Amino acid sequence: MTGKIRTVMGDIDPKTNGITDTHDHLIRTGGIEVREHKDFLMDSVEAGAAEFNDYLEAGGKTMVCMDPIGAGRNVPKMLEIAKQFKGKGNIIMTTGFHKARFYDTRNSFLATVPVDEVVKMTVAEIEEGMDIHSYNGPVVKRVKAKAGIIKAATGYDGIHPFELKSLEVAAKTSMQTGCPILVHTQLGTSGFEVSEILQGHGVSPDRIAISHINKNPSKRYWKKVMDTGVFLSIDGPDRVKYFPDEVQAENIKWLVDQGYQKQMMLAMDAGRTYYHKHYSELRGGHKSLGIPYLLTRFVPLLREIGVPEDAIEDILVNNPRKWLTFIDKK
Ligand SMILES: [Zn+2]
Repeated sequence: MTGKIRTVMGDIDPKTNGITDTHDHLIRTGGIEVREHKDFLMDSVEAGAAEFNDYLEAGGKTMVCMDPIGAGRNVPKMLEIAKQFKGKGNIIMTTGFHKARFYDTRNSFLATVPVDEVVKMTVAEIEEGMDIHSYNGPVVKRVKAKAGIIKAATGYDGIHPFELKSLEVAAKTSMQTGCPILVHTQLGTSGFEVSEILQGHGVSPDRIAISHINKNPSKRYWKKVMDTGVFLSIDGPDRVKYFPDEVQAENIKWLVDQGYQKQMMLAMDAGRTYYHKHYSELRGGHKSLGIPYLLTRFVPLLREIGVPEDAIEDILVNNPRKWLTFIDKK
């Protein structure tokens, strides 16, 4: 398939993606994060749907939900949400893997099964349909809904051999299907190396988005990574524990001025309940601004500091469109 964006409700014309959040979370029902902290458990269809509805009301149209295999992906619950918004908003789901720390790096299936066999499994999720059990055991039952992207991830202490394998799986899956790739980089490290590794496997740079690079808010580093041709998925405004929004807004402005407006995209990455308005209400009545913050607070800040409208349109709509549209297979 080429020239289409693959949502869980079917393929759509790329012209219709609208404003796109390139990395977010509505449902997560398991995995190491959930075992380590209750804030990562996001198991309510009602809360997830209400948050997605708020995002649409704030002007959003498409959301890429980035929970991969073995990290709490829940196909049935996500599909319950997606069905409610069919024709109004698009949800894209992912196959692939998270960072090594989230798996048994000696005995999980990615560790023991040869790369090409794993690639058959991820390609099947993109071309035939996702496993309803998210490959958590030997019984595979596919739904009609397909994954529209593949994820890989790297940790903070260099790139673990398990992660090198997941990058190879992502590369080969993308080459076979034409799908986009998003790579979680821990605290924004290894962005340059990830780009080199994926392109070393033959992946076109326009298939690749480097995620979380904002956690390392060095504009010259962002520039160096973009000089390899890839997109940046810049996430997490409203996280002053790292740095104020203004830091990344100023970085974006500087990079737009340097001619990089065709390579940046935005995301909220609200991966904990307290980043969501509706999960916060559910978990004790806390007030939180939720995912719409991206559009109601952060985008106005970009305007305030002088990022031009055409750059904002590229960052929110046109760049995600190019990245998410499947290309010809190699
Ligand atoms: Zn995330």
